Amino acid sequence: MKIRMYGTRGITPSPGWETKKYGGNTSCIAIRLEDSNNLIIIDAGTGIIKLGQELANASTDLQIKLFLTHIHMDHIQGFPFFLPIYDRRNHITVYSPHYQHVTVEKVFKLLISDQVNPVQLRQPQAKIHYEYMTENVVTHKTLKIKLCRVNHPILTYGYRFEHLNKVLCIMTDHEPAENLLQKTADREAYTLSDADYCSFINNCDILIADAQYLPDEVKMYRGWGHAHVNYIVNKAIVANVKRLVLTHHDPNRTDLQIDTILDQYRTILMKKGIPMEIIAAKEIEEYTL
Ligand SMILES: [Zn+2]
Ligand SMILES: [Zn+2]
Repeated sequence: MKIRMYGTRGITPSPGWETKKYGGNTSCIAIRLEDSNNLIIIDAGTGIIKLGQELANASTDLQIKLFLTHIHMDHIQGFPFFLPIYDRRNHITVYSPHYQHVTVEKVFKLLISDQVNPVQLRQPQAKIHYEYMTENVVTHKTLKIKLCRVNHPILTYGYRFEHLNKVLCIMTDHEPAENLLQKTADREAYTLSDADYCSFINNCDILIADAQYLPDEVKMYRGWGHAHVNYIVNKAIVANVKRLVLTHHDPNRTDLQIDTILDQYRTILMKKGIPMEIIAAKEIEEYTL
């Protein structure tokens, strides 16, 4: 598996000189398998725009599987500007959680329409097929994809990709259940316990996880559906994760602050003799499994 980060920011894009190193585009990750021409994409934040430009220049007859974690803006807003949707030779399957109130197909149509889009876009020419996931396992040849409902204000899935004995987990937009235990009304949406979270990510080679907040910030954003760095690091240690990639960076978090966070946690891991590697998701950086 080759995993490349195209969007690492949560909530809203944050371009600027203070975010240049880790990137200002919202969520998007591309996965390529060595034995396959298929491209797998996780989420369609603004990071998917750059990916689409690369794909449009390089190839046609693309077979793309786009898995959405959920339909919050920072995970879908790049779709109207994803060039492969305008090429009739391409096949794109969009996998999405199943919502009662709206379908992702309707949301994408609205985003592309001139009712909300600042430019008059053509209608997509690619063959786009929508699948609404209710099963917790999706299989594609040698790849097994497991789903896990994480704690977020709307239905949101974390993913576990298993391929030739290698495991990648992507757990974005997840809030620790303990953060909301006082609020009865939230309990239904917050059902993933810490133990279940750890068992889903257990022994993975790479965990890409939402660590938007610092421990002292998380109470201010109760119910927003995000984790803090301390929580993610601790759970990754318990689950024996080999490499932890922090992502969904807060839009106000500067490169310098992210570097400081990494230094702090690398020192802690070193002092405790824990071999887990910890890095922060950076645009266009690639990991090989
Ligand atoms: Zn998000
Ligand atoms: Zn979200």
